[in-house]
Amino acid sequence: MPTSTDQPDHPVVTRFAPSPTGDLHVGGARTALFCWAYARGREGAFVLRIEDTDRKRSSAGAAREAMRDLAWLGLDWDQGPDPGGGERGEHGPYFQSERLPIYETHLERLLESDRAYHAFDTAEELDAKRAAARAQKVAYRYDRAGLEVPRADRLARAAAGEPHVIRFRTPDRPVVITDAVLGEATLPAGEVDDFIIRKADGFPTYHFAVVVDDALMGCTWVFRAQEHFNNTAKHLLLQEALGFEHPTYAHFPLIMNPDGSKMSKRDKDKAVRAEVRQRGIEAPPPDSIDPGTFTAWLADKKAQLDHDDLVRLAAALGVQLPEINVRDFRRSGYLPEVLCNFLALNGWSPGDDLEKFDNAFLARSFELGRVQKTAARFDRDKLLAFNLDAIQAMSPEVFLDRVRAHGERYHPDFLARLGDRQFELLVESSRERSKTLDELFRTNHWLLEDDERVAWPVTKPVRKAMFKGEPTGLALLAEVRTLLDGTEPFESGQLEAALGTWAAEHCEGNLGRIAQPLRIAVTGGPVSPPIFDTLEMLGRERVLRRLDRCLDSLSTTEEAG
Ligand code: GLU
Repeated sequence: MPTSTDQPDHPVVTRFAPSPTGDLHVGGARTALFCWAYARGREGAFVLRIEDTDRKRSSAGAAREAMRDLAWLGLDWDQGPDPGGGERGEHGPYFQSERLPIYETHLERLLESDRAYHAFDTAEELDAKRAAARAQKVAYRYDRAGLEVPRADRLARAAAGEPHVIRFRTPDRPVVITDAVLGEATLPAGEVDDFIIRKADGFPTYHFAVVVDDALMGCTWVFRAQEHFNNTAKHLLLQEALGFEHPTYAHFPLIMNPDGSKMSKRDKDKAVRAEVRQRGIEAPPPDSIDPGTFTAWLADKKAQLDHDDLVRLAAALGVQLPEINVRDFRRSGYLPEVLCNFLALNGWSPGDDLEKFDNAFLARSFELGRVQKTAARFDRDKLLAFNLDAIQAMSPEVFLDRVRAHGERYHPDFLARLGDRQFELLVESSRERSKTLDELFRTNHWLLEDDERVAWPVTKPVRKAMFKGEPTGLALLAEVRTLLDGTEPFESGQLEAALGTWAAEHCEGNLGRIAQPLRIAVTGGPVSPPIFDTLEMLGRERVLRRLDRCLDSLSTTEEAG
């Protein structure tokens, strides 16, 4: 059987075929990226197909989210569902669950030519055979018991509605898989058994649906994760039986954690568990999760909290969950162009030590010859450094727009509580230190806090800023109050000038002597944007209110003496 790409002028059609059983994993996003780039760089077409034949695990919501994630990454598809409704392309529907009549036609062809058969084995019979294989320590293979029923009986029983599956009658010969990345492998005869192609619920299995759809949608290149490599044997055999051309296959090694473990949602659970252990926490923080759920989870090392509980507990403990899915990276404030760049480097490189590039460059340059054969290790620090660089290269206006868009999506309450000028000042004064679009929302809670609730626990930096030196920071604060009360307008530039003059008189021009006590007084902690911006953002009234409360609170602590 020829390979469809044997003909040099054959159009390039790639496809990404996610199963909508959860959020889109970064590994899936990388497959999509390579499919997209390969098609875009060769005037080809990129197809998106939703593989939702597993009815129990699939959901329309997950499919919608996957499309959103792809769109966010800038990966547009020529054929597939249209997120706005309807579809693009002529080979739809693009949800497999809507293609059952199409699969039936092709199943019928195999049944007629006796390349497939109805099988009536019960679950108990199959379980017993699997158990026997396990006991003998041999790999289980279906023993073709179904074929012992005469063909006419099989057809009659199926027609009468007896529960059954349809199995493919696998030819008894070796299968050679040729892969554009991993090379060639031969599966010996007998390795692939008579696998199921239609389940008892009437839905095709993944193997059958994927083969029919790749052929009918004209896919000439199949890129996917390495875990599907062995499945390819089944697909090649089905293509031959159905008279379809073989696409060219390329399987990509996985993306792993730096320690070689799989990047999975379990990593999030582990991060929270580690924090709980380290802090010796025995009950969930108030208003986080149900105490019973917490105790049961803590007692069972293998248990995983459900996602909402995990997010709630992580937030209450201040744990930053490791990002695994595209949605996590988006929420954490990574830029889609940076994520694409970085994902491409996890498994591919353009050569010449070039590391920074955009999707247009990737489309021009991506070729399979430079795809790695071994697993990639996902280096989060490097991703963060890439994101920082990209943010630093942005104009202030672009940064402002992007932070605002991020805030509107993930922190609407934060945005709603800030005036325009306040928000612009916060963004501009945070820009140089921002590694992500999310950081400034996470680190500036002091701005939203009720003035009456700011507290000053005497930590090391507080002790140093407030109680050391002659005069002490606290004494300087009491004196600078009048100046702050009278500075007009209460704006960053004006405050800088006034405090500069004041520092020359009161602390030998050492602005730091007053800046840090002030910062602590008005924010409750030692870290905030530049002090003059911090003051302007709060405004005179709130600054004075916090200052008075701080003086009150700290002058009565023991340290004051
Ligand atoms: N639906 C399969 C998955 O998400 C895709 C396999 C393929 O690309 O053939 O793993």
